[in-house]
Order: sequence, then C-alpha cells, then structure tokens
Amino acid sequence: MPASIFDLTGRIALVTGSSRGIGRTLAAGLADAGATVVLNGVNEERLESAREELGARFGSGRIHAVAFDVTNEQAAADGVGWVEEHVGPIGILVNNAGIQHRVPMLDLSLEDWERVISTDLTSAFLVGRETARHMLGRGNGKIINIGSVQTELARPTIAPYVAAKGGLRNLTRAMTAEWAAQGLQINGIAPGYIHTEMTQKLVDDGEFNSWILGRTPAGRWGAPEDLIGPAVWLASDGSNYVNGQTIFIDGGMTAVV
Ligand code: NAP
Repeated sequence: MPASIFDLTGRIALVTGSSRGIGRTLAAGLADAGATVVLNGVNEERLESAREELGARFGSGRIHAVAFDVTNEQAAADGVGWVEEHVGPIGILVNNAGIQHRVPMLDLSLEDWERVISTDLTSAFLVGRETARHMLGRGNGKIINIGSVQTELARPTIAPYVAAKGGLRNLTRAMTAEWAAQGLQINGIAPGYIHTEMTQKLVDDGEFNSWILGRTPAGRWGAPEDLIGPAVWLASDGSNYVNGQTIFIDGGMTAVV
C-alpha cells in the first residue's frame, strides 16, 4: 500500500483543545503528516505558546491558532468562520476539547453536570455542525470525535464524563447517518488512560497507578503519541470507507476483563 494514502499535504485541520495535552500532540502529528493545522483553546497565552512551538517545528505558515470557547454557539460559529476565511477550507476537524470533574454523583451539582456535558459533548455538536455546513457543500471532510474508555465503561465519581463520552459515540453515528452520503467520514478515537495534565493526579496516586498498570493488558499508561497513527489514518484517504466507528486505543483495556 503506497504511503501517500496517509499523506495530508494540502489539507487544513482544526483541532479543538490543542493548546496542550492530547490535542497538541494530535495537532503536531497531523502537521507531521503534511496538514496545515489550526490550534484552538480558551487560554490565549497557552495557545500562543503552542502556536510558536509548533510553528518553529513545521513553519509558521502551516500552524495557525484561533481562541474560542467550544461550548459557546456564536463563538464556535465565528471561530470556524475565521478559519474558513483566513486559513482555508477545513478538511479535517478533531473534536478534542474536554474537561473532567471528579465527585460522587450524590454531591454533583447541576452546574458541574452541565459544564462537563457542554464541554465534552455539546461542543462536538456545535463545532461539528458549523464545520459540516462548509464540508457538505464541498462533498468531503473528516470529523474525528475524541471519546474515552468511558465511551464504553463507567467508573465511580465521573458521571457526567461517562454520559458525555457515551453520548459522543452515538453523536458520531448520528452525524454519519445524516452526512456520510455527502462524502463525510465521521469517526471516533477512544483513548485509554493517557498520561497528560488531566490525569497527572491519577498518575501520582500510587494505588490508582498500580490499578491502571494491572488493568491494562499493555501494562503501561498510554502516551499522547500513541494516538497519532489512528488520527492520521482517520484524517486521511486511508479511511475513506470507515464510517461511524469508534476505535479504542487503550492498550487492550476494553478488550480484557
Ligand atoms: P488537557 O490536557 O486538560 O487539555 C484540554 C484542552 O482542552 C486544553 O487545550 C484546553 O484549553 C481545551 N479546552 C477545555 N475547555 C475548552 C473550551 N470550553 N473551549 C475550547 N477549548 C477548551 O486534556 P487532555 O487529557 O489532553 O484531554 C483531551 C481530550 O482527550 C479530552 O476530550 C479528554 O476527555 C480525552 N481523553 C483524555 C484521556 C487522558 O487520559 N488524558 C483519556 C481519554 C480521553 P485551555 O488550555 O485554554 O484550557
């Protein structure tokens, strides 16, 4: 199979929540495969520092940044519109922005429930709908929704995250039901436990850390870099007949009891 099937040269990718963590690594991976990348986040300082770092690696012409809150309907529309006007047609959207909030469900406030649901689920609808409005007219586009092992499995104390990530799998299917016939491929990547800022506290917790090492057939935490290959594949022509799937990249955690 020729390597060019995974080549992203000339494609424009918007990666939400890419000022740090998994999003930043995915942005670098897509750029490494040839894409022009637009970074996103809320904190402008962090976003600018990511833009400078990746710009130095891949050339400033190929790394752009647009700050907007993915939970805000107008901001999401303006952000997507800015990319289309100032960078070019979005060929790849990675809905990655997300947050976690750990508290037993009996102590969970409605406000925190809604904050997690809107950041981890509604955002993919808002940014996805806006981007699809442009992609559908062109007859092609790739949308990758970033789920989690909580797309499939629950854990105590993270109810809204579990609900949002499970919902994201079915949103991926719903987008497929409506948009696949017009040339869009919408799929999900569900990472296992990946060592990032979001999970630093868990890595530092000796008991949780040994549970992860024992519960993961691969016997280690994932690294953000483990997600690059699947993301490049789902963003490329190599996945043109892959529709509505969520791929678990979890060291085997969801495959083995
Ligand atoms: P992270 O290091 O905490 O980074 C989160 C990113 O999302 C940051 O760039 C942040 O921007 C951005 N963000 C948060 N709220 C936003 C909003 N309202 N609008 C725009 N951007 C926003 O998280 P991560 O661990 O890389 O996780 C990234 C994704 O992977 C999430 O969807 C998460 O659920 C998923 N995931 C993570 C793991 C893991 O083990 N880490 C496992 C499975 C799935 P600012 O810098 O501006 O705050």
